[in-house]
Amino acid sequence: MKVWFLGTGTSQGIPVIGSTHPVSLSSDHKDKRLRVSVWIHWENYSYVIDCGPDFRQQMLTSKCPKLDGILYTHEHADHTAGLDDIRPFFFKQGDIPIYAHNRVIESLKKRFDYIFQEVDKYPGVPTVKINKVVNGQPFTIGNKTVMPIEVMHGNLPILGYRIGDFAYLTDVKTVEPAEQEKLKGLKVLVVSALRHEPHNSHFNLEEALHFIKTINPERAYLTHISHMMGFHEEVQEILPKNVFLAYDNLEITI
Ligand SMILES: [Zn+2]
Repeated sequence: MKVWFLGTGTSQGIPVIGSTHPVSLSSDHKDKRLRVSVWIHWENYSYVIDCGPDFRQQMLTSKCPKLDGILYTHEHADHTAGLDDIRPFFFKQGDIPIYAHNRVIESLKKRFDYIFQEVDKYPGVPTVKINKVVNGQPFTIGNKTVMPIEVMHGNLPILGYRIGDFAYLTDVKTVEPAEQEKLKGLKVLVVSALRHEPHNSHFNLEEALHFIKTINPERAYLTHISHMMGFHEEVQEILPKNVFLAYDNLEITI
């Protein structure tokens, strides 16, 4: 299975519009971060986790040829705003499956009412096939089993996903012990780390590193990164040997 980091930035992306922060002005391609998402593909299967405002650009850059489904972590705009841009996949493939918690589906219905409209639908509007995800109930994508993992994004319970020896958790602030149990024996853990300073709904770097130590995967990749984290190259140098700062268009094999 391959995992392509489509975006590794926090909600504003890097560079931040109008920002003169040195990281926003950096010419290192690893300091340019679109909104967070990954493309997971194996054999002939192809899925993304989240579908943010940079989805179109991410599909073009990665040359993703087809989309078998979208797994949503939560309803915030940086994870959902790109849904309309599934149109080219819809035209070729028909209804696109989405996998999300019921609360997220209800939010998508409000944000994209025209996509979910059942009568008098405007021609050219995409249609999705709804798959409700319930924590504690594994589901199948292609020929693989996905285990939902509930994490807390501040006060909001949201979902991460484990697929085999790989797990993807973003926008994390706390994880209950029972959910941590589901993360044993991982080869690769992707987890969010916003910046150095604490934040009320996101791990900072210290909290993310502590969590990684507890879960003890073979390798970990940090994502959902703010410009306030600093330059990619400098931050990578202070990380433990098995922890990497992800960057856009990095592809890893699991
Ligand atoms: Zn986010």
